[in-house]
Amino acid sequence: MKCLACEESAIQVMPGLCAHHAIIWLERTARATIRNYNLLRPGERVLVAASGGKDSTTLAYLLQKFGYAPELVAVDEGIAGYREHTLRDLRAFCRTHRLPLRVLSFRDKVGQTLDGMEHAGRPPCSACGIFRRQLLAEAARGADVLATGHNLDDMAQTILLNITLGHVREFWRTGPVAELPGLARRVKPLYFVPEKLVRLYAHMKGFPCAFAECPHAGRSFRAAVRDALNAYEHANPGAKRALVSWYVAQWAAHRGETAPSPRRCAQCGAPASQPVCRACVVRAAM
Ligand code: SF4
Repeated sequence: MKCLACEESAIQVMPGLCAHHAIIWLERTARATIRNYNLLRPGERVLVAASGGKDSTTLAYLLQKFGYAPELVAVDEGIAGYREHTLRDLRAFCRTHRLPLRVLSFRDKVGQTLDGMEHAGRPPCSACGIFRRQLLAEAARGADVLATGHNLDDMAQTILLNITLGHVREFWRTGPVAELPGLARRVKPLYFVPEKLVRLYAHMKGFPCAFAECPHAGRSFRAAVRDALNAYEHANPGAKRALVSWYVAQWAAHRGETAPSPRRCAQCGAPASQPVCRACVVRAAM
């Protein structure tokens, strides 16, 4: 099949477009998402939650290309054989692009690496997600916006996860932008970009991403949802995009309905839906 925009062959990652025009499409889509959902405003201090992976690296690169001045913050959970490699890639990227980077570690902030925590048979992702969110929220104090590299595949998984787990409060908070009291605005400029296309973009731009996966990733419920969605997408091309489009159309009308209470954790003072936040509960049990 020929590219819709030129005489080159279309690529499998982006049916209908060659690699060159797929790259242009990605950049236009990210720009349009920022504009259409008012994700970023002039003069705002923008923090990017970076990992050294393809998504957040692509996001930081694009924000800089679009004229913003992103500051990067990364979390070192302490996952041996994995995180040290992605952080090495991230530092190399930041040096090349002259971007500021701050790394917060579980060891310093939580008192324990993820590898060193007791998980009582549960996948480590639960504690990892809780502390990671806490550290990022702390890092984002003083910033206007916290941008994350979530892509279309991530969002399709999150929507399905929230449905299957009955997470009603979270359901309307996973749009392209989320405004929660006491926290920097959360934005996702790559919301409508398929994961495979981000991978292609990172590869073509020569970003130093190892494309490694966390050794714990396969044990999470998200991994099961991801695999199920991939199988469904294979049989029904476009299913993920349709799910995300359906969600966003509903989200636009419902996004204010599950506003969280302005309560704060009695122990650490962070915004919390319960008297004591989950990070403090997990920390106390460690
Ligand atoms: Fe943390 Fe799980 Fe992600 Fe690994 S896969 S970084 S343990 S949330």
